[in-house]
Amino acid sequence: MDSASRLDILTPERMVVKPGTRVTLKDFDPNFTGSFKKKQAKELLQQGVEELARYQDMLYAQNTYAMLILFQAMDAAGKDSTIKHVMSGINPQGCQVYSFKQPSLEELDHDYLWRSFKALPERGNIGIFNRSYYEEVLVVRVRPELLAQQQIPKSVRSDRIWQQRFEEINNFEKYLVNNGIVVMKFFLNVSKEEQKNRFLNRIDRPEKNWKFSLADVRERGRWDDYMAAYEDMFSHTSTDWAPWHIIPADNKWFTRLAVANFIEQKLKSLNLAYPELERNHLERLKEAKAMLESEE
Ligand code: ATP
Ligand code: MG
Repeated sequence: MDSASRLDILTPERMVVKPGTRVTLKDFDPNFTGSFKKKQAKELLQQGVEELARYQDMLYAQNTYAMLILFQAMDAAGKDSTIKHVMSGINPQGCQVYSFKQPSLEELDHDYLWRSFKALPERGNIGIFNRSYYEEVLVVRVRPELLAQQQIPKSVRSDRIWQQRFEEINNFEKYLVNNGIVVMKFFLNVSKEEQKNRFLNRIDRPEKNWKFSLADVRERGRWDDYMAAYEDMFSHTSTDWAPWHIIPADNKWFTRLAVANFIEQKLKSLNLAYPELERNHLERLKEAKAMLESEE
């Protein structure tokens, strides 16, 4: 299948949050797979991965844009494996992955975007945030004791803080985009039922045990609070310059295909090209070639 038709077969209107709309997750089916079958999806993913590698090579050579791709999700939604599969063809030299955990004491002593600034990709690179500054309006909202640990002024510590953070994040992303750092945001939308299956699988399979912690079950207990926080976040932070993608995540093969396609589409829209060489550079290349060929 050629790349134009391959990119067209996804249904963005089902996965991209229109800026300014109020999001209800009930409208987004975690089990959606369009008309795809697993085998076909795997082949299409392979083609997409090859295209990503081609674009990344130009991104790197051109050294003008950077791409920030961030993933948010409940536990076991497949962030790690999506990153692994989608980026599998990418040259590691032009890619960096950063996983955001609970902030350290040093990080808590700074404003909340500080650690994200430090982890931003440089021009020419793709940077992946596995979790992100969005945790600041998700886990921090769901667990008030985390906000209490932040050394912010009392006057800011009201219910208005979430609205304020949404605005700050929108402005931050606008700033990035204006500076050539393209921002792509993916929420991997797994159902509560499928999360349970995956947790049980992690418990039953010794080689998966390390991925499971009791804390994950505790967070699962706050599922509804998380969904409410996510809905509010999508409603306020899906913008023209950095819209949210809500990706069905009950079938990993579909998740990977959808994410790869959206990234490919975005890279394509940048009209990337290899830098044009100046005339005298081309002459130098010819000279160098002649020298190499005249070697004994
Ligand atoms: P993951 O669950 O993303 O696969 P992991 O299991 O390897 O990662 P965890 O110890 O679960 O590692 O680390 C992520 C934890 O850090 C999550 O519970 C997340 O909510 C928390 N976290 C991330 N950013 C923040 C933040 N800004 N404030 C508070 N907690 C945060
Ligand atoms: Mg975890």
